[in-house]
Parts: sequence; C-alpha cells; structure tokens
Amino acid sequence: MPELVYTPLEDIDKIHAELRTGFQSGKLKPIAYRKYQLLQLAYLVKDNSKRLEEALAKDLGRPPLEGHFLEISATLTEVTNTYCNVAKWAKPEKPGFSLNWTVMRPIVYKVPKGVVLIISPFNYPMYLALGPLAAALAAGNAAVLKPSESSPAMSSLLAELIPKYLDSDLVRVVNGAVPESTKLLDLQWDHIMYTGGYRVAKIVAAAAAKYLTPLTLELGGKSPVIIDPDCDLAMAARRILWGKVVNAGQTCVAPDYILVPRSFQDKFVAALKSAYESFYPGPEGPSAPEAYSRIITPQAFKRIKGLLDNTKGSVVFGGETDEASKFIAPTAVRDVKEGDSLMSEEIFGPVLPIVPVENVDEAIAFVNAHDHPLALYVFSQNPEFKAKVFNNTQSGAAVANETVIHTAAEGLPFGGVGTSGYGAHTGKYGFDTFTHFRASLDSSSWIDKILGFRYPPYTKAKLKASLKLLPRLPARPAGPPSATARSKWWGKWFFLAFVVAIAGGLTKRLKTSSRSS
Ligand code: NAD
Repeated sequence: MPELVYTPLEDIDKIHAELRTGFQSGKLKPIAYRKYQLLQLAYLVKDNSKRLEEALAKDLGRPPLEGHFLEISATLTEVTNTYCNVAKWAKPEKPGFSLNWTVMRPIVYKVPKGVVLIISPFNYPMYLALGPLAAALAAGNAAVLKPSESSPAMSSLLAELIPKYLDSDLVRVVNGAVPESTKLLDLQWDHIMYTGGYRVAKIVAAAAAKYLTPLTLELGGKSPVIIDPDCDLAMAARRILWGKVVNAGQTCVAPDYILVPRSFQDKFVAALKSAYESFYPGPEGPSAPEAYSRIITPQAFKRIKGLLDNTKGSVVFGGETDEASKFIAPTAVRDVKEGDSLMSEEIFGPVLPIVPVENVDEAIAFVNAHDHPLALYVFSQNPEFKAKVFNNTQSGAAVANETVIHTAAEGLPFGGVGTSGYGAHTGKYGFDTFTHFRASLDSSSWIDKILGFRYPPYTKAKLKASLKLLPRLPARPAGPPSATARSKWWGKWFFLAFVVAIAGGLTKRLKTSSRSS
C-alpha cells in the first residue's frame, strides 16, 4: 500500500481552476455522461474490492465482513441506485395545477450547482467519500474529494484509483491535513459537504460563510437508546451490541448510551452479556483475528481509554485495552450517572454506558436535556411507547428495534438536526443536495390581457382588477384547534343528550296515551 502523499499546497488553486473549466465545458450536462462516470465509479469499487478491503483492514483493522457489508457493498448499492435513478431525478418537474399560473408553464429545472468540495472522515472512509461523490456527479457537478488523513491507506488508494476511472477535469482528490484543508476552504465552492466532528464543522461553516457557500454538515453526537421492559430482550441486546462493536464503536450513529428502567437494569445487563459471549465465543474473545476493528489513531485510543478510566460506573464486561495494537474491547458499564466521564462527550469508541432511569418520562427528559442526537433508538413491542418517545423528542433519525443500518435504507435521508448537522444525503436526498432547483416560467403575450393591470399608470380600475386576485380564505376559525375539538366533543354529547331526551319524552307520551285509550 503506498504511503499517503499530501497534495502540494501550490497545486490546489490549479486543481480548483481545472475543475471549473471541466464543469464549464458542459461535459456533464447530458445524463448519459453522468451515467458513464457513475458506472466507472461502480467499477472502480468492483474491480478493486480486494485492495479496498485491505485498505480498510490497514487503517481500521476492519474484519472483511464489516469491510464488505458496511463499505464495499454499501457503496456499490449507493452508486448503482444513483446510476439507475439519475435520469428520473434530473427530470424537470412541473408544479401541480394552479388556475393563476399554469398558463405560464411553470417548471423546475434541476441544474448542477457547479464545483463542489466533499470533505470526508476516517471512520467510513470509502462509503462517506464515494457516496457523496456519486451524488455530486449525478447532479452534474465537478468535485474535489478531500479524504481523511487519519485513514491514510484508503486516502492514498482513492488518490491512485480515481484518476484511472473518472475524468480528471471533473473529479480530483486532494490529500492532506489541516494546511491542505485550510487552503481548500480559502477557495470559493458552489457547495461544501463536510462529514466529521462539530469542532471542525464550525471552521468549515465559517469558511463557507465567507462566500455564502451552501453547506451540508453531517456530524455526530451522543445517540441514545431507550429500553422498554416490554421488548424482545435478546434481540434488543444483540442489535444494540452489534451497533456498538461494529467498527469498534467508531460509527456516527452507534448507540452511545442506554437509558433503562432502574428495575430492569439487571435483566438488560444479563442479556447484553449473553449477546457479547455469543459474538466472541472463542478463548481469544474479540482479539481473535478478523473478529473486531481497531481504534484509528493512538490519540483516539488515549481519548477513549481516558473516558473509560475515569468512569464511576461498574464495568460489566470488557475493559481490556492494548495501546500497541490500539485495541479496546467492547465494554459495557452499568450504573452510569449524568456527569460521568462517559457522558461528557460522544464516545466514538466501543464503550457502552448504561444509565438507569425511573421510567420513560425520565428517559425522554434526559434526552431532551442534551443536544439533538443524530439517531435515537427505542426498543419496544408497544406502539404507544414508541410513539411517546418519538413524539416527544428530536433527532436526525428515530428508529425502533434496530440500530445503525437505517443509514443505508433506500429512500430515507441520512442527516442530523441541531448540533448533529444539517442537510442530508444518500439516494435522491444526495442528488437534491448538490442540485439547484431553478424556477422557470414562459409567459405568452396574451397573459397581459389578464395581468395588464400591473403596469403603470396605476388607476382605480386597475387596483380593482388586482383585488380580484385576492385568494379566498377558509372560514374564520372558531378558536384554537384543541378548543374546537373540545367544542365538537361537547357538541356530540349535547346532540346525544338531546336525542335521548326526545326519545324519552316520546316513550312517555306513548305510554300515557296507550294507558288513557
Ligand atoms: P476526521 O479526523 O477524519 O476529520 C474529518 C475531516 O475533517 C477530515 O477530512 C479532516 O482532514 C478534516 N479536517 C480536519 N481538520 C480540519 C480543518 N481545520 N479544516 C478543514 N477540515 C479539517 O474525523 P472526525 O472529525 O474525528 O470524525 C468523527 C466525527 O464525525 C464524529 O463526531 C462522528 O460522529 C462524525 N461523523 C458523522 C457522520 C455523519 O454522516 N453524520 C459520519 C461519520 C462521522
């Protein structure tokens, strides 16, 4: 695997200018050419899947199964889905019929934004780089991809392969760390998509603001899990633990902490423990070859170990660490309280704190007292429990009885809210992110027979004509909706009481008349 060569700073202006020329050439205007580039991208992945798998293993110690399931096949699915749908997504859209406007042939053209910058992170260094790249190309943009310097094997492989498969006047890879990223951010882009942590996101947002560049921020945060004792416990434990151990917890939507009723904690911990034993049955446990990923850098290892060393909770299983191989065993910690080291920041590692609460109301209050997470998980068989949690919280995604895989579900947006980010991608959401929706009308001369009143000189007759266009409002509301609903409710009871009274009166009269006859 070649060493990561940083792009010379003095080349970056030239790359930017070449991409601008490539975009302006109009090469990507025909959908057929976009599809050609997308198919090339798909073949880049297919032809080199072994090397990509090796790069993931080198950077993150990724077991082949995780490499294939979470990156190689997920990327191929994303690119293929984009390839198959780009023609449909790019079609101009007519708005619904409107008496006032239809005659002017309103239409929305889907046009590319221009030359875009994609800054991707180390943790899914292929899926989060090539997925957004596919979306940018599908929308007709030229793009610079800036992969993470923390995953050097993948970043250098992308720098080698992309020029072999994609046109270099349309796509370029810029490798490097802070100076190269800073240089990139000094330039004007037509859209920036940044995936990573919130601290750097603020630097990116400030740089984007300089040119009023539209920005998508795909960030992270602490994604909670709320447990209902009325859940399929073995399945819940399995899926939560999988969501945490996959990529050694370095997943933006990994379950970060568990909120469990205090009286149910023992049962939940026992189920989690048995899931752990079933995942790593051999004597070597998770340190067996190709069983489990490693932490990306020594600094990240130290940070996660520091959080674990300082917890006041009790370790249930795991806790083993090895600095030399950047190994941290999957670790569950029970009886964790607010204010604990494990609750101080996004863990982004394989440590799972369990926080006991009284009930679902306290769990909801706990979630709402923190930043909006990227994902919120609930494990329950009870529709009312799920609805209560979802209806009373905010998060990027709200997922019941599953973890992590919702990010790859076709047709769903992948994005955050609040500090977990803004904007979204994957599938059509990615296409739309890199697309400008260009509004258009084509108005005939005869329209002035109707709209001629708009032209000066303004007269009373023209004002009268203009007032004819005022929309008709629905009837004035009787009150706020809840009050209206209440009055309807009373109305129903009143009607029922009225019917009963009439019926009662009639029966009485009938009885009296039959007695008297
Ligand atoms: P990272 O260290 O790989 O950094 C991300 C990118 O930012 C890299 O390309 C890096 O070169 C660049 N960068 C670093 N400093 C910069 C600077 N000063 N200016 C411009 N760019 C700079 O990854 P990270 O930030 O540690 O990523 C982890 C975070 O990303 C976690 O919070 C995680 O939850 C989040 N994340 C979010 C998603 C999502 O889709 N929402 C996906 C993956 C990761």
